Order: sequence, then C-alpha cells, then structure tokens
Amino acid sequence: MARNFNADPVGQNSCAAHNLKTELVFLLSWLLNDNVAFLYAAAAISGYLFYEVMHFSYHIPSGDRAEKCFLLVPGWRQLRQTHILHHKRHKMTEANFNITLPVFDFLLGTLYWEPIGKK
Ligand SMILES: [Zn+2]
Repeated sequence: MARNFNADPVGQNSCAAHNLKTELVFLLSWLLNDNVAFLYAAAAISGYLFYEVMHFSYHIPSGDRAEKCFLLVPGWRQLRQTHILHHKRHKMTEANFNITLPVFDFLLGTLYWEPIGKK
C-alpha cells in the first residue's frame, strides 16, 4: 500500500520532512525512514544556508562593518581571497569553483592561490 504523505498533517504521524516537497526527501522516507529523510533535509538546508552566508560574506566591501564580524572567523580572510581570485576573468572558468570550502578544488587540482593584496 502506498503511503499518503499528506495524511494527518498535524497529528502524531506528521513529520517536518513530509512538508518539504522534494522528491528525494519522499524517496528517502519511503525507502528508509522519516529520520533519514529529515536528516537529509536538515543537511541540505544547512548546507545551502552556509553557502549563501559565505558567498554573501565574500562580496562584502572591504572596510564595511559587516566585514568586521566575518574577520573574527578563523580562515575567513583566506577563503574570501580564493573567491576573489575565482572572480578574476582569466581564472573564473578554471579555478576556485568551491564557494564555501575549497576541499574539492584541492582534491581536483583547481585550487589557485595568490597572496592577499597582490594585483
Ligand atoms: Zn561570488
């Protein structure tokens, strides 16, 4: 019997994962269980928020008040430098594709670095 994900939306059988309308959440819930689907949804949302905040922070103008908050994060200055280098026209299509953390740029050999302040 197929599960009806919209049944009992506020009762004991409801789950936050059921309200997320993504096929993968439904598939995980159907194939495994609601906890796995919820963990996937929470990780996906958290990862996307992390991506958005970090990308926003890299584009804050130098000297802005908001920059002072991010300068408190260890390594943020170097992460912003990798993103600034990514936006250079001659490097944009070949280096520093990772926005949040340059793990896969390192592993795939696309990490490019110039010292901060070099033009
Ligand atoms: Zn950017």
